[in-house]
Amino acid sequence: ERKNSKGRNLMDRTQYEPLMAALEERNSHKYAAASIVAGMEVGGEPVDVTNPANTAEVVGTAREAREEDLEAAAVRAKAAQKDWDRLGGTERAKILRAMGDAIEAERDTFADLLVREAGKTLSDVIAEVREAVDFCRYYAARAEEQFGAPIDLPGPTGEKNQLHLSGRGTFLCIAPWNFPLAIFVGQVAAALAAGNAVIAKPAEQTPLVAWHAVKLFHKAGVPADVLHLVLGDGVKVAAPLVADERVSGVAFTGSTETAKIINRTLADRDGAIAPLIAETGGQNAMIVDSTALPEQVSDDVIQSAFGSAGQRCSALRVLFVQDSVADKVINMLKGALKERVIGDPAKLTTDIGPIIDAEALKGLQDHCAKMEKEAKLVAKADMEPEAENGTFLAPHIFELDGLHQLEHENFGPILHVIRFKAAEMDEVLRQIGDTGYGLTFGVHSRLEGRWKDLFEKTNIGNTYINRNMVGAVVGVQPFGGEGLSGTGPKAGGPHYLLRFAAEHTLTINT
Ligand code: GLU
Repeated sequence: ERKNSKGRNLMDRTQYEPLMAALEERNSHKYAAASIVAGMEVGGEPVDVTNPANTAEVVGTAREAREEDLEAAAVRAKAAQKDWDRLGGTERAKILRAMGDAIEAERDTFADLLVREAGKTLSDVIAEVREAVDFCRYYAARAEEQFGAPIDLPGPTGEKNQLHLSGRGTFLCIAPWNFPLAIFVGQVAAALAAGNAVIAKPAEQTPLVAWHAVKLFHKAGVPADVLHLVLGDGVKVAAPLVADERVSGVAFTGSTETAKIINRTLADRDGAIAPLIAETGGQNAMIVDSTALPEQVSDDVIQSAFGSAGQRCSALRVLFVQDSVADKVINMLKGALKERVIGDPAKLTTDIGPIIDAEALKGLQDHCAKMEKEAKLVAKADMEPEAENGTFLAPHIFELDGLHQLEHENFGPILHVIRFKAAEMDEVLRQIGDTGYGLTFGVHSRLEGRWKDLFEKTNIGNTYINRNMVGAVVGVQPFGGEGLSGTGPKAGGPHYLLRFAAEHTLTINT
């Protein structure tokens, strides 16, 4: 039996021991990543990539794409796309399945990278590798189904009508650091599945995972000219490509602000109108009414707000709790937060790892300082001594008077609690609607009429009733939001590939 340093029983974690051993073997390995254009490793001088849990540790180096690398990627991708498209959905599916198998086979290397480059805990690592594999297999199945053969359409006698789906050209896929494997692979796999060439631009904080994944895509059978990797800063590397007419569409996961800049750049450039598929942030709320089960609420809130150190777009930011159960729920949350271990993500006993980098940490610390003045601090977790070595933030819970006290999403382990009275449900909904976001939503209530009504009255991508509100599963909870949270396409859903496709009809007078 294992206990964490706070005495919480961790018996269920023994399953991670083989993974721990694999990480132990790799923990001093240094990776040397580069941009990859036409299958060649290219880029400028190697730049250090450090571990957010121990910023003195260099995990590897990365070579950023230079102007000539961006140019070569755009030229080669354009030249190679038609052949890739002609290959058809069935053949592309085989390659994507091989990619899924390859990720599974390399789980331990990805785990090492996800822990040391991105600060992910072991349970998050297992879920993320699984999700990346799921994306490959799910989009493979959709490619076969939707891109395998043209669809026959009706018409008058003597006329044959068909609908053909094909790639749009070259997609630029811009991925975030918080799911540097799953979202990166998911975007690329979807764009490829639909018949596009891809230029992939991972977050500058997580180039190593992306580099390893692109090498596997090529090994799995994606031609070198069909997929290129450009590493580096968004302004230097992604912005010129967004402005480049040879890029036919952009898939982006990141901040709302950046999504708007991309949209504006696409609109302003010469040539074809190019689509943007954007998945951005959320000011995600959960409503807990007086019929909810406080123990379950506490577990689900802790997981939704503080799991992955709150660095999920889906994470719970604002908990609305009915006044009659508020004290009980808040006390349980305080108790549960005390039992969490915040420290080295490579340890079996750790629940919550670091913040991705010093800049992100500073923003969150500033928010906490503001909240300490303007709201009531309800709870603050303590951290393991090793947290000194990295960019960690102690999870905080603040109680507010209303959502107007929050200006924007705070991407970290900070939960805001607001009490409401039974008669104020409409006011709560108004506050949630007024944020303009629409990514995830949670309700804890045993009144079926209540949650049905709330679901119908909100415009939010993913709603979860009586459970946690993170960890959408591919093919089960297609993920993505609307309003300030994105342009709507659902990753891991049956319609996602169509957003990357062009549709052509063919009418033949026979
Ligand atoms: N799909 C993830 C989830 O449901 C969140 C993805 C993100 O943070 O961008 O928790």
